[in-house]
Amino acid sequence: MWARHIIDSRCKSDHITNNVTESFNHWVGDDRKKPIMVMVESLTCRIMGRLQRRFEKGSRFEFATTPRIRKIVDMTMQDAKLCKVIDAGDDEFQVRDGFTTFAVNLRTRSCGCNYWSLCGLSCTHACACISYKRYNVERFCDFYYSNEIYCKIYQEMIHPMPELNERDRDGYPIVDPPKLKSLPGRPRTARRRAANEGRAGYAARRKKVLHCEVWYLQIVWT
Ligand SMILES: [Zn+2]
Repeated sequence: MWARHIIDSRCKSDHITNNVTESFNHWVGDDRKKPIMVMVESLTCRIMGRLQRRFEKGSRFEFATTPRIRKIVDMTMQDAKLCKVIDAGDDEFQVRDGFTTFAVNLRTRSCGCNYWSLCGLSCTHACACISYKRYNVERFCDFYYSNEIYCKIYQEMIHPMPELNERDRDGYPIVDPPKLKSLPGRPRTARRRAANEGRAGYAARRKKVLHCEVWYLQIVWT
C-alpha cells in the first residue's frame, strides 16, 4: 500500500507506478522474444533515437519550465482564483479555500496542504498568493522541472554502431552461444502472478456468501 503524504519530499514527485516491469515489457513489445544480441541492438537503436528526439524537443521549449509543467501550473492558477488570500507580510499568507484555511510561506516554499513540498510545484493556495503578489509563477517551480534539467537528462548520446556481423573483432575468437536445450512443454508467455494476486480474471468475482436480510424473511413468513 502506498500513501502520497509519506513519500520523501526530496523526490519532488507524487507519481507512483506499481510493477514498472509491466510498463517496460509493453514498451519493449516483440523485442523481448528475440535472441539476446538482436534484442540489445534493437533497444539500443530505440534509446538512441529517443534521446536525440527528447534533446531536440527540449531545445525548442519557450518557457523556463517544460510545456507539461507550464500547462499544470496554468490550470492551478485558474483554480487559485477561488481562494481568499490574507497577506500577513514578509511573503507569508493565510489562505481560505472553501471551509479550510492554510498557512502559506513563499520564502520557504511551503503550504499546510504539503503538496508544494512533495511535488515541487506550487499548490492552489500558493498560486493564489503568487497571483496576489504578481510574481512569476515559474520562479516557484522546482529546479527539477526546468528546461535546463530536461536538456541535461537527454544531452548524452549513444554513438551509432556498425552492423553486428561486420563488427571488427580485433582477432578475438567468436564466442558461440551455449547449446539450446529444449525443455519439456510449451515456453511460458504469461506473467508469473504473485501469491496474493489470485488467478487471472477471478479478482473481480465476489466470493462472499450472500444471506437474505432478516426483515425480508419476516415479510415472507408473515
Ligand atoms: Zn496548499
